[in-house]
Amino acid sequence: MVQIIKKQSGAAFKLQKGQKLKVIDPQGEQVSDMVLFNAEDPREKISSGKTLDFEESILITKEDWLWSNRSNKMMKILEDTNGRNDFLLAPCSPETFRIMYNNPEYHPSCFENLYTNLAPFGIEPDDVPTAFNIFMNVQFDEQGRLSVDPPMSKAGDYVLFEAEMDLIVALTACSAEDSNNGTFKPIHYEIME
Ligand SMILES: [Zn+2]
Repeated sequence: MVQIIKKQSGAAFKLQKGQKLKVIDPQGEQVSDMVLFNAEDPREKISSGKTLDFEESILITKEDWLWSNRSNKMMKILEDTNGRNDFLLAPCSPETFRIMYNNPEYHPSCFENLYTNLAPFGIEPDDVPTAFNIFMNVQFDEQGRLSVDPPMSKAGDYVLFEAEMDLIVALTACSAEDSNNGTFKPIHYEIME
C-alpha cells in the first residue's frame, strides 16, 4: 500500500531485513531525505563517509550499497529511475534557513521532520546523521564548488531499496525552496516483501 508523506513533513517506520522500500516522487522535482538506523542498536546508522569511500563515488545510485558507521551494509539500491541523488549535504534545518536564506522566521525543515518522527524510537536530534538525499541534484565544478539545482526527477520516478538488516527508516518531503525548484510537494513510499 502506498503511504503519503505530505509536503514539508516526514515519517519513520521499521523495515525488516529482506523487505523492499520504494520511494516515489509523485509530481516530480521533489527531494526526500532518508536516514537509517540499526533497529537492534540505533547507535549504528547510515554513513555518508563510509558509503562514498566503499562505493568509490560521490554519486550513489542503482547497484550501490548504503553503508553504516560500523562498515556494514544497510541497504542495496535495486532500481533508480532518475539516477541523481545527493549524499554530501546535511538535512535542511532551522539554521539552514537562518544562515543561508537569511530568514529569521520559523521554517519547516527536514531535520525537524526527521528527529520528531524518530523520537518514539528513542533517537535524539544529535543522533541524526547526514541523510541520503533522494532525488536531490547537487552539482559541483572542478574547483569543488557546489550548487543545489532543481531535481531532475519527473512525476513517477522512484528509487527501490532492499534492507540488508532490520532497520528504522526516516523519510521526509524536503522543506528547502532551493532543493525543490521553489515548490513543496509530497513524497510517496511503499514497503514491499
Ligand atoms: Zn530538506
